[in-house]
This record gives sequence, structure tokens and C-alpha cells, in this order.
Amino acid sequence: MRLRVTLLGTGPSQGVPAVGGTDGCGNWGECDPAEPRNRRGRTSALIEAEDGTRLLVDCGPDLRTQLLDNRIAGFDALLVTHAHADHIAGIDELRAVNRATRRVLPIYATEVTLKELQDRFSYVFRPATSGFFRPALEAQVAAPGETIRLGPMEIRLFDQDHVVMRSLGLRIGGFAYTTDVLTFPPESFEQLRGLDTWVVGCMTSGTNPVHANLDQVLAWVAELRPRRTILTHQGDRMDYASISARLPAGVEMGFDGIALEVPI
Ligand SMILES: [Zn+2]
Ligand SMILES: [Zn+2]
Repeated sequence: MRLRVTLLGTGPSQGVPAVGGTDGCGNWGECDPAEPRNRRGRTSALIEAEDGTRLLVDCGPDLRTQLLDNRIAGFDALLVTHAHADHIAGIDELRAVNRATRRVLPIYATEVTLKELQDRFSYVFRPATSGFFRPALEAQVAAPGETIRLGPMEIRLFDQDHVVMRSLGLRIGGFAYTTDVLTFPPESFEQLRGLDTWVVGCMTSGTNPVHANLDQVLAWVAELRPRRTILTHQGDRMDYASISARLPAGVEMGFDGIALEVPI
């Protein structure tokens, strides 16, 4: 089986550029504004199986433009890795997906994440209205260690330490997606052995208290040796050209819209 994985957004919580800058055109940090791959929306991905079954991972505030830019009108389920705003604040855009698919959308997340979503967006969990005048989501509790079955995909979930909260990583065959993680518990790290393709959060070439940095990710890669590693959730110190030049073979910077063909 093969998966097609599209990274809809590969940026940090504020995006790159962040709102600001001396001229109001954005704060690019160390990123070259002339390089289109440095313009990054909030981190999100679409995973598609060969039969067309689709899973969206996270729904940040850039979701509307990400779906339009990538010509995605619908998907079968949503997985939310954790309840930080950059991963959930586009939840109202899912109303358009309800309308396109004429279905209530299953949303998989941990009990803690679902509780947070219920507190902040209780209206999306009320019974669907005809015409979907608000989003209609169906909560599906998922826990680390469990496997979700969606069409032909078996999605194994595991726990990640994001310091301020836990986040979910996922593995489907030889593909893994792990964003917003500082460290992996040992049993989660074991889930990352024998990968073909690994999408991993890499916030900075410096240090960050809640996200893995470049040195840490490269140390993981040296031990795990996936065939291909793609960085995501990249902040404004991750200039495409200068960081790419430092990466070893098999490791590359993701960018918004990159599509990965993954044999699993
Ligand atoms: Zn994030
Ligand atoms: Zn986060």
C-alpha cells in the first residue's frame, strides 16, 4: 500500500512571517522573505490512502486557505494531536467540509484534548442541524497505545511529551508523524524504528523549551535511520537555504504544500 501525505502547513504557532515587522509586512526572523518555501502556515497534514480514504491531522487557523490551495474539499476524519490554538483554531472552517461531504465529521483525540475542545467549542459537538449552520463533529476518544482503523489505514497512536501538555504521535505502516514534541517516552521512541518516512517537528536551530530543536532531531535521525525525514513546525530561525545546506542526506525541510509518496 502507498500513502500520499500532503503537508498543508509547516510553520510555528505564529506562522512565518509572524504579524509585525518594521514595515508591517511581517517578522521573518532569520528567514529570507524572497524564498517562497519560508512562508509557512500553521502545522497540519492530510494523509490519503490509495482507495481515497483521507485523514486530516490538526485544524489550525490557516485551514481555509490550506484546503483551498491544495484543492481539498473533504476528508473522512480529523485527528487532533493536542489542544494548542495553532492546531485547533480553524475548527469553524470544518463547517464547509460538513457541507461538502453532507456528513458529521469524526474527530479523534485524547480525552484531555476532547475535554478542552468541548469547553472552548461546545457548539461543534451538538447534534447536526440541517444545512450545517455550524460545524458538526462527532467526538471519538483515542488513547496512546490504541490503533484507529480508517478505511485501509491502521493508525497507531503514541504519547509525546510537549512539556506544557501531552501530544499524540501517529504511525501508519512505515510512516510516522510527530509534531509538537520535546521528548519521547521510551515506549513511544520504539514506535519510530524501521520507518520509511518520518515527518517530525523541528522548531529551531537554537533552543526551545517545549519543541525539539535541530540538534535533537538529527540525533534522533542518527539513531533511528529512517529512509527519509521531513521537518515541520519550523520557526523563523529555520531559513530554507541556510538550514537545508546543513542537513545530512535523507533529511529535508518541509514546506507548505509538499506532497510525499510513502510506501508503507
Ligand atoms: Zn504547534
Ligand atoms: Zn503545541
